[in-house]
Amino acid sequence: MTAPSFWLETLPRPVVPRPPLPGPREADIAIVGAGYTGLWTAYYLKKADPALRIVVLDAEYAGFGASGRNGGWCSALFPSSLGKVAKVAGSVQGAVALQRALNETVDEVGRVVAHEGIDCEYTKSGTLILARTPVQLERAREEVAEFRKFGFDDEDLRLLTADEARAELAATDVLGATYSPHCAAIQPAKLVRGLAEVVERMGVEIFEQTPVTSVWNGQAHTAQGAVTAETVVRATEGYTTTIAGHKRALAPVYSLMLATEPLRPEQWDQIGLARRQTFSDGRHLIIYGQRTADGRLAFGGRGAPYHFGSSIKPEFDSDPRVHAELKRVLDEMFPVLRDVRVDHTWGGALGVPRDWFASVGYDRAAKLAYAGGYVGDGVGAANLAGRTLADLIQGRRTELTVLPWVNHRSPNWEIEPFRWIGANLGLRVMDGADAEESRTGRPSRRAALFGRFLGA
Ligand SMILES: Cc1cc2nc3c(=O)[nH]c(=O)nc-3n(C[C@H](O)[C@H](O)[C@H](O)COP(=O)(O)OP(=O)(O)OC[C@H]3O[C@@H](n4cnc5c(N)ncnc54)[C@H](O)[C@@H]3O)c2cc1C
Repeated sequence: MTAPSFWLETLPRPVVPRPPLPGPREADIAIVGAGYTGLWTAYYLKKADPALRIVVLDAEYAGFGASGRNGGWCSALFPSSLGKVAKVAGSVQGAVALQRALNETVDEVGRVVAHEGIDCEYTKSGTLILARTPVQLERAREEVAEFRKFGFDDEDLRLLTADEARAELAATDVLGATYSPHCAAIQPAKLVRGLAEVVERMGVEIFEQTPVTSVWNGQAHTAQGAVTAETVVRATEGYTTTIAGHKRALAPVYSLMLATEPLRPEQWDQIGLARRQTFSDGRHLIIYGQRTADGRLAFGGRGAPYHFGSSIKPEFDSDPRVHAELKRVLDEMFPVLRDVRVDHTWGGALGVPRDWFASVGYDRAAKLAYAGGYVGDGVGAANLAGRTLADLIQGRRTELTVLPWVNHRSPNWEIEPFRWIGANLGLRVMDGADAEESRTGRPSRRAALFGRFLGA
């Protein structure tokens, strides 16, 4: 079996899928999807009530999806701005509460992995978003100003001067940066595989190689029969399109990554990231990187096309054009990497809701709970989602169940071909916007217009 990411490929033990569901079954909770969302939900439910009978079903195996492939930023990021969250929440307090909960989530993940002995190379050293053009610097200032307006201070997000930023990460053209301490670098596959083992030890049953075709009225249907439960949790993120009746809930958008060969200490001296801070820059077409625990640079970005009909295929994990562009960007940011070998390339689908607003919800009458739509920010958020779903399903009203993403309903995506046209137009606009900003030195009007179309 070929592993679909560098992280899965370099696990201490190769993945051996667990057996499929043997036949129809009854449970209290059926969870569809063994990524972070499904497994954190199982974890917190079982912690709260060890007697619960919980069954997790995965079409492939735990960590096959984005959770085993991502950039390893366990961050406090949310795909919508504080301003948009406040608008949806109808209050500034709602947006502040969600951001504070996300900030605390980074520590919660650190606490649980330490407590449960999950060695996922968790290092909390924050994240740097470099400003490498005057327009990006202006956006960085605006972002810090927005955080101040919502009552956050330097402890949560601060602006670095060019010298301060370069001392952390010596990329080319650095004019400044924002720095948030609320981010840990992790080995993502070690987290998801470790979590699966932990919940299994707690008594959760995991059946792999078991695609669910539909979820309806407390039943998760598979070729081997249904799991009947009081609640079915949909935790399929970018793959939600494979479940009948949910095809237009989330669009699968591909993000692609590469990992270099291990760098020598003197190469790292020229780059920085001495504390394993994660990093990006202020361009529209997102890029992201981390220094891995074994001294490689793992680097990724968007730009791969959306595929007609929300199609997901193994061959979409690789796109030579996008992988070459990622290496070009890396070389341009860090000339010392020009002759460095790329050892691994891979990619995966993440889930994008029509309004870019992640959500977690529970409809007791329909016996259905769900969480997702994190875009590229699900590593931390899925833990918060899992804790929130556990409270909702158990009927507890807590500070988590009143956060503004709870029971938020994103509109469905358009039918094809409009979804294909819209999603790929968005990618083009963001790519073009970066070129336009470099050329004109002014913020891109196209990007602002497209942001308004998304309701940003
Ligand atoms: C390349 C890449 C880089 C990323 N980088 C970051 C990052 O650095 N930081 C960050 O916060 N986020 C990042 N993300 C996003 C993040 O990885 C996801 O938001 C997060 O992993 C979502 O977890 P999940 O459990 O909801 O979904 P997934 O991990 O995708 O899990 C869904 C599971 O459902 C299973 N499944 C699918 N269909 C069915 C079915 N019909 N029946 C049964 N099971 C099914 C799949 O096999 C899969 O195991 C990245 C994503 C990608 C692809």
